[in-house]
Amino acid sequence: MTTYSGNIRKMRVSVDDEHIAQYQLPIGEQNIGMNSLIGTEIQVQYQGEIHCHHCLKKTKKSFNQGYCYRCFISLAQCDSCIIKPELCHYHLGTCREPQWGEANCLSDHYVYLSNTGNIKVGITRHVSDNVSSRWIDQGATQAIALMRVQNRLTSGLVETAFKQHIGDKTNWRTMLKACPEDQDLLSLKAQLLEKVQPELDEIRQQHGLQAINIIDSPAVAIHYPVTSYPEKVKSINLDKEGEFSGTLNGIKGQYWLLDGDRVINMRKYAGYFLQIDTES
Ligand SMILES: [Zn+2]
Repeated sequence: MTTYSGNIRKMRVSVDDEHIAQYQLPIGEQNIGMNSLIGTEIQVQYQGEIHCHHCLKKTKKSFNQGYCYRCFISLAQCDSCIIKPELCHYHLGTCREPQWGEANCLSDHYVYLSNTGNIKVGITRHVSDNVSSRWIDQGATQAIALMRVQNRLTSGLVETAFKQHIGDKTNWRTMLKACPEDQDLLSLKAQLLEKVQPELDEIRQQHGLQAINIIDSPAVAIHYPVTSYPEKVKSINLDKEGEFSGTLNGIKGQYWLLDGDRVINMRKYAGYFLQIDTES
């Protein structure tokens, strides 16, 4: 048995050579390799202590998955334009933290399609080896980068154009209940690009030809370490329950799947001080 304790952060994700998602849970100064714990007992205790993910100060409540209220209302990374990039207001001179904006928003972004049970459009900043950690975070089983755009605002404008034809949300219950059927993302890409052509032309007219670059990335598959999916999804609420234990049946997205159809979104508890006991 091993005991870990400390403030947790969202799980670090990657894929191995077979494109199986690999998970590490940062806790205090350590990282728990989660994949090897699947099929074993795990016990989690929370005693009411939360530290802000950014300033590390103690906070009674977590805002935006791990921030104190002060950081939530003052950091650019917590502004509403992060969720709605088409509202990026850097060019108006009103960015909460212009330097952060320059480093994070005025740089290349990728627009992608992913399959999380339904096909959706989304935006990510980094794609490496044709995979974005964002796809793993959302539990996508397939994804394809469609285009590289010059900044966050443009990515939002492109996403808005796509949203007339396709959703942009993950239904997390659907995502957690099964592995969806494979879709032909390449042909979907071609169909959608044709539909949004007028809007893309308009964006290029306003922001320059270099604003949008269609790229030739392959569609990739991502597999998750799941031994059995829940039939119904029962969410564990750490704020109310304080602790839980059980067999870890798998991990998908940022969720742990436990016996008894229970699931927990670990990302939601970033900054929580936890004690975690594992079997090995
Ligand atoms: Zn803070």
